[in-house]
Amino acid sequence: MKYKSMDIGQVSPEAAGRKERLAGWVDEVRDLGKIKFLLVRDRTGSVQVTWKKGSCEESTGEVIGTLHQNDVVSVVGTIERSTVSKRGVEVLPEQIHVLNRAKHPLPMDIAEDISTGLDVRLDYRPLDLMRPSKRRIFEVFSETISAVRGFFHARGFAEVVTPRIISAATEGGANLFNVRYFDRTVNLAQSPQLYKEQLVMGLEKVFELGTYFRAEPFDSTRHLNEFVSLDIEVAFADCGDVMVILQDMILAISSEICRNSQLADSLAQEFRKVSGPIPVYKYEEVVNALNEHGMKVNFGSDLSSEDLKKVQQFAEGAYFITDWPTSTKPFYIKQRGEGDVTESFDFMWGPLEVCSGGSREENRDKIEKKLLASGMNPATFEEHLKFFACGMPPHAGWGLGFNRLLMAMMGLSNIREAVLYPRDRFRITP
Ligand code: ATP
Ligand code: MG
Repeated sequence: MKYKSMDIGQVSPEAAGRKERLAGWVDEVRDLGKIKFLLVRDRTGSVQVTWKKGSCEESTGEVIGTLHQNDVVSVVGTIERSTVSKRGVEVLPEQIHVLNRAKHPLPMDIAEDISTGLDVRLDYRPLDLMRPSKRRIFEVFSETISAVRGFFHARGFAEVVTPRIISAATEGGANLFNVRYFDRTVNLAQSPQLYKEQLVMGLEKVFELGTYFRAEPFDSTRHLNEFVSLDIEVAFADCGDVMVILQDMILAISSEICRNSQLADSLAQEFRKVSGPIPVYKYEEVVNALNEHGMKVNFGSDLSSEDLKKVQQFAEGAYFITDWPTSTKPFYIKQRGEGDVTESFDFMWGPLEVCSGGSREENRDKIEKKLLASGMNPATFEEHLKFFACGMPPHAGWGLGFNRLLMAMMGLSNIREAVLYPRDRFRITP
């Protein structure tokens, strides 16, 4: 590469004697007159550059004297073993080029051990990511995406991309953003629900990773107005089948990330590994247990965040809650027999809902009845419903909040930590 011959993390005592070109950012400068120390870092690590009067060029020493934190430099020098530097190695500089100067002082302190408020960090997100602990969250995000793609491709799923510009609600009408579209008003997709269901006719097993929008004035640490979702839909499968797929995928992600040596070393404390079968509780069991623990939950109501915090007393880590009452689930979820429960599940991690899914209703008349019962007009869904009379197979699937999964795996308390540039009611920059 033009500016560097190796990453700084690759500089090792074994490379002693080699002349290399390194590039990165200034971390620290210490000028003791006859000897000057320059700490240079990139995303892989940092190394000490040691200038010694007499054995290094005077002009190189002068350049070091002008440097401040985060100036961007390229250093050509010889790698030497060192008994005093932390990594047992240092670089004796031949040339130092300043590639760009940084404002001094920086608008945000980027030292790992300085704690800065989340709002300031988000205002300066690219600087925030120069700290290893924050960068790591998004390295895990990237690795998780790679693991997910590998998992589904290996199982014969097709990756699909469905529209974000839509004309009808997918999850009920209330929380849609309206957008000007030439001379009409259209909506931003809340989920790929209707499209992925239609696609099981031709492709049978599909998955999609995408960004979706919900127009509610949320005020929470787990909701954003724009979020990333991982969705699957599978023909000839039911709720139990797609729960197994989800469990296998969670286990695969866990072991993939722990196998990635670069991540695993630095992740030891924060990453929550899932290794065994994930416990399953029925909604009714959870409600009974909650009522035994002094809460007042009626069968048929959704579980509040207070309820879910209480659930921690008997369910920890990752678990499923299944068989939700009809009233708590959207119109496309299938009824279990004639009763009032559905073939549905939520996948939870502590008090956090990470994923919702279940068997879908494939009978057009039943879907129409469910739409009417939830106050929606089946005619608005004609573009979707028409396919249910053309050979729609039984099918099941789920939608998983990808940022929430990252929150859960990394033990983060605010979803904004798990989104590079979060969008909430108040924040639309940077
Ligand atoms: P919640 O009850 O937490 O508001 P939901 O049941 O409305 O979520 P679903 O429609 O089931 O959400 O969406 C599937 C998944 O997408 C959720 O389990 C969650 O992980 C994620 N998700 C939904 N809404 C948001 C949001 N506003 N911000 C971030 N993730 C979300
Ligand atoms: Mg849900």
